Amino acid sequence: MNKYIMCLFLLATQILFAQTSVEVKSAVALIEDPTTQIVDGAINTNTLNATMESNISNVIEEKTEEEDESSVEDGEFSVSNIFKTLLITYPHIVKTVPKAENPHHPDLAINVRGINFYNVNGRFLSEEERKNWKKYTSNTIYSYPREIPNPKIRTKDEIKLMKKQGSKYYRKRKKPTYYGFHRALYGMKNLSDTNNQIMKTRLFGKQVLIHQFAHDSLKQVEKEVYALTNDNDYKAEVKKFLKEGTIVYSFFWRTIAGSKSRSLHSYGVAVDVLEENSKKAMYWLWRQNQKIDWIREPISVRWNPPNSVVQIFEKYGFVWGGKWNFYDTMHFEYKPEILILNGYDVTLLNQQAIPLTTEEFANQIKIELPTNQTETQTNK
Ligand SMILES: [Zn+2]
Repeated sequence: MNKYIMCLFLLATQILFAQTSVEVKSAVALIEDPTTQIVDGAINTNTLNATMESNISNVIEEKTEEEDESSVEDGEFSVSNIFKTLLITYPHIVKTVPKAENPHHPDLAINVRGINFYNVNGRFLSEEERKNWKKYTSNTIYSYPREIPNPKIRTKDEIKLMKKQGSKYYRKRKKPTYYGFHRALYGMKNLSDTNNQIMKTRLFGKQVLIHQFAHDSLKQVEKEVYALTNDNDYKAEVKKFLKEGTIVYSFFWRTIAGSKSRSLHSYGVAVDVLEENSKKAMYWLWRQNQKIDWIREPISVRWNPPNSVVQIFEKYGFVWGGKWNFYDTMHFEYKPEILILNGYDVTLLNQQAIPLTTEEFANQIKIELPTNQTETQTNK
């Protein structure tokens, strides 16, 4: 019997001793089919008194907690490797914290723009937030596959999990990652800081606003994509991609739809490139909102940039949202650390960083590259 079922039994016991038959009935229903009852938000708390409500929310908390812990998104990469990669990716702002200066040793720490962040169960937290670690979900470095995950080979369990994670109820309740770490990393506490960090440039003929970290890389992507229009192997698909009205959205201060987490568009490290008049699928949530069974739909229903273009973005440190299970095929975000940890060769052009291949990185600082990779990834 797992912890979750145990909680339900404790809950049921309390109801049996304290409540009327109405509540007993609803608790029995919970035990019989806990997943659907809880995840779909089908608990009618109106029939329960205040104590019962708090008991139920504790149960849900517990469940969310467990799911966060057991998520396959993290765990592949050790915190020490994540920190090592951040040191290489952002050498001008990320520094090591010597053991002697870390009051919470053996918890690992990293210094970003002068602030120490400590690893507390996968959350990278400032000194004052250490005690509040349960409020946050872990700072995931997710597995990023070579190929688009194929919906046709999803198991029933994977489909069930994705349905659950995609539900409005789950996304609303999912804890955010600790925003302080991203604020320090991107040097943006609020909207007014953006003047220091965001640069105006053009991508594929459209104006974009981009974080200075990603600026040079984005311009290099553009240059290499344009170069493909002279390459006989790729020119047809790339010209088509560039011609069919690519709209480019970049910086805007917002949270991810239906969640509490801040989108990377808020920090200016994400761009959306899409075909203006395409009727094809681009974003899982739009599909879901149209009541389409998007989890089982084949990749062919989606609008995707040519693979040759995706590869150029990846080479310069941009993750493509089309490889997420919760896909967003127009979305590219500058996250070289994710690519490097997943074994991709990345050329870093930002500031003082030197272009190095992943193998060179690995040799230089002895990162153990992951051997087996899983693909589950939630919306970003
Ligand atoms: Zn986007």
